[in-house]
Amino acid sequence: MSSFDEMDAFEGASLSARAMAARPAPYLDELNPEQRLAVETMDGPVLMLAGAGTGKTKALTARIAHLLTTGRARQDEILAVTFTNKAAREMKERVGRLLGGTADGVRWLGTFHSICVKLLRRHAELVGLKSNFTILDTDDQIRLLKQLIRAEGIDDKRWPPRMLANIIDGWKNRALTPDKVPAADAGAYNDKGPKLYAAYQARLKELNAVDFGDLLLHVVVIFQKHPDVLEQYQRWFKYILVDEYQDTNVAQYLWLRLLAASHKNICCVGDDDQSIYGWRGAEVGNILRFEKDFPGAHVVRLEQNYRSTPHILKAASGVIKGNSGRLGKELWTEVPDGEKVRLIGHWDGEEEARWIGEEVESMQSGTRGMRRVSLDDMAILVRASHQMRAFEDRFLTIGLPYRVIGGPRFYERLEIRDAMAYFRLVISPDDDLAFERIVNTPKRGLGDKAQQTIQVAARAAGVSLVEGARMAVDQGLIKGKGGSELRKLVEGLSRWNSKLHGPVRAVGLGEDDVLDDGADGPQYEYGPPEISHMELAEIILDESGYTTMWQNDKTPEGPGRLENLKELVKALEGFENLQGFLEHVSLIMDNSTEDSGEKVSIMTLHAAKGLEFPAVFLPGWEDGLFPSQRSMDESGVKGLEEERRLAYVGITRAEELCTISFAANRRVYGQWQSQMPSRFIDELPEAHVEVLTPPGLYGGGYGAAGMGGASSGIEKRAMEANVYNSPGWKRLQERAATRPISQPKESRNTVIDLNAVSSYVMGERVFHQKFGYGAIIGIEGDKLEIEFEKSGTKKVVARFICAADDVPF
Ligand code: ATP
Ligand code: MG
Repeated sequence: MSSFDEMDAFEGASLSARAMAARPAPYLDELNPEQRLAVETMDGPVLMLAGAGTGKTKALTARIAHLLTTGRARQDEILAVTFTNKAAREMKERVGRLLGGTADGVRWLGTFHSICVKLLRRHAELVGLKSNFTILDTDDQIRLLKQLIRAEGIDDKRWPPRMLANIIDGWKNRALTPDKVPAADAGAYNDKGPKLYAAYQARLKELNAVDFGDLLLHVVVIFQKHPDVLEQYQRWFKYILVDEYQDTNVAQYLWLRLLAASHKNICCVGDDDQSIYGWRGAEVGNILRFEKDFPGAHVVRLEQNYRSTPHILKAASGVIKGNSGRLGKELWTEVPDGEKVRLIGHWDGEEEARWIGEEVESMQSGTRGMRRVSLDDMAILVRASHQMRAFEDRFLTIGLPYRVIGGPRFYERLEIRDAMAYFRLVISPDDDLAFERIVNTPKRGLGDKAQQTIQVAARAAGVSLVEGARMAVDQGLIKGKGGSELRKLVEGLSRWNSKLHGPVRAVGLGEDDVLDDGADGPQYEYGPPEISHMELAEIILDESGYTTMWQNDKTPEGPGRLENLKELVKALEGFENLQGFLEHVSLIMDNSTEDSGEKVSIMTLHAAKGLEFPAVFLPGWEDGLFPSQRSMDESGVKGLEEERRLAYVGITRAEELCTISFAANRRVYGQWQSQMPSRFIDELPEAHVEVLTPPGLYGGGYGAAGMGGASSGIEKRAMEANVYNSPGWKRLQERAATRPISQPKESRNTVIDLNAVSSYVMGERVFHQKFGYGAIIGIEGDKLEIEFEKSGTKKVVARFICAADDVPF
């Protein structure tokens, strides 16, 4: 808008608005006509319903910039809601860039939760709370429910509190206060659900606390019961914008409808195929109902995808086709075909992490014959956050910088560093830095003054802080609770230290030694420890009060920290002792770069919504893991369809290169489990997928796949074990290579053919590297059901076993 004629559209507007509108709007030039329509239609409701990567978020961001540039609203008069904190941050940055400054003044741009906390703090008294209310985490919520359940005389073993928590969350997501729970739900939780819900809400009020679901529920109630308050915000928020609208639940939907009811300037964007929060009560119907709710809405459909190559788009479409009841959209793109989606199967999860690490490195250095890819442009998207550690460990080991989106890196997490300080101090009581870190964590009443007393005592005697503390305790230098707690700590440290090894025993008295001159007398050494280092780690964390500290923590992070401590203990498993583990961590942390240089991202699929990366790795495509067993068990076909949408979200994050992988074996809670490839893999359209050679027994390694000749991990391990060097094993390899695997049809690299039919017969005795010997009791294509002699019945893929007679050792 630069001429006076055009500015007449702003007749009656203030001078400043006219001047603002006269500024150039380069952001409009970057949009296609449909997007422009969505941006420039500023009065009344607008719905942008379109597939992944079609520029919905781009248009939404441009719309905010346009509202501000044209003076339609001031920064704090715009309410913009999105789903993750990262998405909110990015949106704010983008608006800032479009405006050529910052968008810090767009104060009401955030997630539903962050915006509702602000609103609720302002009006808490209207729902019987004080403005400094606490937000309970899941652990607290469960503890509270347990008390109420027991008070009702219900057996909480048969009727677990978590079940009630889910039921209550469900009601809250539907904006149902206890008095509104429908009669149809009266039977919930053994008929006691509604009564316990009421009791729970009453108790929360007494505690001046809310849970996550309350944040929205309370605000909706306030809006419904206090029209004056609602009106105030209806006037204030001149424009409402919502990204990822397909994931709104009923409470969020009501909240938005109430706020938009008078001016109806609401613009929602979304994609029904990307609805992935059904498990939290999201109703994809909300987006489909928009036109009914807001008659006269402008509906904008976008079909051109600007993000991904055709192969990636078609692979994603192929998978999502498996869902019923879709609106069904055809996406197209102008970009050239690019590389096919790559698919690779691995022996186990570690192999998968190792392979991805090597791929990332070679892409970063540009040795794969493709252009150099920055680490910032690569992402690893997992279904479950526990999958992340394998990658973190691997990347730390090889010194590959990475970031975890949605949380700090594993070994940098506060609780992990605290726990490791305890371990360090148990192993070396001279580690003063570790002592300083944990002396008052958890709180022991040892403030600055007490710590100074310890320091002075230690310095005077020229000993470590632990010794100084012991002296301070013995001499009664620290009084009261601090003194007795410090005594407990130093006693604990000695006790835990003594468990690092078994009792001292004499050695060197064997017969040979008798012939020795015996001048040195007998030698002594420690016997083996009586408990494992994993048990010891747990004891340290429990007895020091560290675990309890997080159990009592009231912040939303508490439960996650406890999970991480469990994961830490699990990580110890791979080491001989605590010391070995600490050395490993200090070495790998040394490699890690703290600078702000490029980093590969690791995050969950849920956290990746709305984001995009040139190269995406999608590991762990195994039935049970992805699609998640829990989701299928809890929600049947609906759950499976949601998992499929998650697969669609994952694939469509990729711009140029998308790599899907799975492992045949995975360690779950210390037990090896055989895994079946995800059913989604067979839904990928073959024409758009290239199957890569796994770096395993039967493939030609990386060399065959044209990826540089490095010898793979499984081969290396095999060499180390010196088993596979035997002539027998070589014979087996030759036979195996011709046996269950049909040769590739079109891809030069294909060695795994997922549809290959096994040539094994029922009852045949076979061998599996992890599960040992067993007999085949079922055959389904290349999937065999085997009753293993030691590890029970499992399903495995044929290429990971061999005939028992062929085993060379
Ligand atoms: P998702 O459904 O995954 O959230 P989306 O529809 O929100 O995707 P955007 O993230 O807004 O899509 O856009 C995808 C990519 O396409 C971005 O890199 C964006 O800059 C680019 N893009 C969008 N529209 C255009 C356009 N008109 N011209 C060029 N590039 C565009
Ligand atoms: Mg988007």
